[in-house]
Amino acid sequence: MSEADDCLFCKIIAGQIPSSKVYEDDTTYAFNDINPKAKIHVLIVPKKHYANVAELAAADPAELAHIAEVAQHIADERFHGAFRLVFNTGLDAGQTVFHVHAHVLTGEVLDE
Ligand code: AMP
Ligand code: ZN
Repeated sequence: MSEADDCLFCKIIAGQIPSSKVYEDDTTYAFNDINPKAKIHVLIVPKKHYANVAELAAADPAELAHIAEVAQHIADERFHGAFRLVFNTGLDAGQTVFHVHAHVLTGEVLDE
């Protein structure tokens, strides 16, 4: 069994676990966070499994750049373009799902 077989976000991408889809293309999927920390809180994930943002950056920097563009697209469509992009990396930084995901926080004026 590979790491990805037991991964919550791989199962969401495969449609085995339901999610509220916000955006999808060939390489990338975005869905609403189940426990939103802002008025709009979307998770953007590469369809391919990488454990964290550093692994993604090393293996596929174009996909990391694409995730930033998708975040801008979501903030343009649903707010006036302002957004916060967060990658929690490692247990002690609060990472709980080890399939890299960008948190996009937008939809309201955010606290500092
Ligand atoms: P992190 O703590 O950075 O690893 O972020 C994981 C995020 O996934 C948290 O913000 C959770 O609320 C979110 N989450 C966990 N399970 C689900 C799910 N089934 N659907 C949507 N979001 C989820
Ligand atoms: Zn995965």
